Amino acid sequence: MPYSFQIGSIPCHIVSDGQQLIDGGSFFGLVPRVLWERVIRPDEKHRIPAQMRCLLVQSSAGLILVDTGQGDKITPEYRTEFGMDNSNQRLESDLNRVGFSPEDIDIVLLTHLHADHCGGNTRLSDPNDAESEVVPTFTNARYLIQRLEMAEASFPNERTRTHYYPENWEHLRRSGQLEIVDGDQALAAGVRSVTVPGHTGSMQVLWVEDGSESLLFLGDACSWAAHMDRLAWVPAFDLEPMRSIEGKRNLRRQAEEKNVLLVFQHDSQVVTGRLRPGPRGATVVPEITEVAWPDS
Ligand SMILES: [Zn+2]
Repeated sequence: MPYSFQIGSIPCHIVSDGQQLIDGGSFFGLVPRVLWERVIRPDEKHRIPAQMRCLLVQSSAGLILVDTGQGDKITPEYRTEFGMDNSNQRLESDLNRVGFSPEDIDIVLLTHLHADHCGGNTRLSDPNDAESEVVPTFTNARYLIQRLEMAEASFPNERTRTHYYPENWEHLRRSGQLEIVDGDQALAAGVRSVTVPGHTGSMQVLWVEDGSESLLFLGDACSWAAHMDRLAWVPAFDLEPMRSIEGKRNLRRQAEEKNVLLVFQHDSQVVTGRLRPGPRGATVVPEITEVAWPDS
């Protein structure tokens, strides 16, 4: 379900490509299950629901979409394995609900190139034919990717290989829509991307700021609210956990100082929240929440 609101005068929408079921341990790294299962209960296969949220910003530079979800090129077997909704065009449906279609998007900003963040970059020209041509989903958009991320994705190692799939970006190179950027970017009035290394070498987050109001789309710099409350909680996915911790420390300080609206990309319970002082340091007070297991 999309959520629409304004940051100052800038309209923003949280949209989603749905959810998948992921091994709980991979999101909580070294944290024992007896601790993290108090935050989110796993199913009998130790999986937890992980949302694939994206952010849409109606900016002075046009429509900016941050991340594109898992997309629809994945096989029915994968969908079953990862407990994914079998409907096609989940993200497109959410875009439609807030009044837009894929052709309207001017800029796609990719936090990084893991498949659950950029799989929707491209799609099958015939959704019912897995052999059909792969084409860009957002036909009028420039897709912005960090140079280091592009390098890590293009030359993966034994550990990173399973997260990177060239069909998610190769066709954009050919269509001339891929734009490589280096470091922090001013994208529009009040909209900027900032690199926060740790999860990958150049993962980027998005800030939306206008007057006294601000929003931070955290991507995988802090994908669950519980990870913002506890600096040491770092996903097993992160390539450089100590840099992730330093990145979070820095973001936490800014979030507290500026009363920032935090958007959590994968958290199946806390969509947004703000850091507020508590007895054991600042903790996230949720604003928009969802139910992780609605059927039980
Ligand atoms: Zn990731």
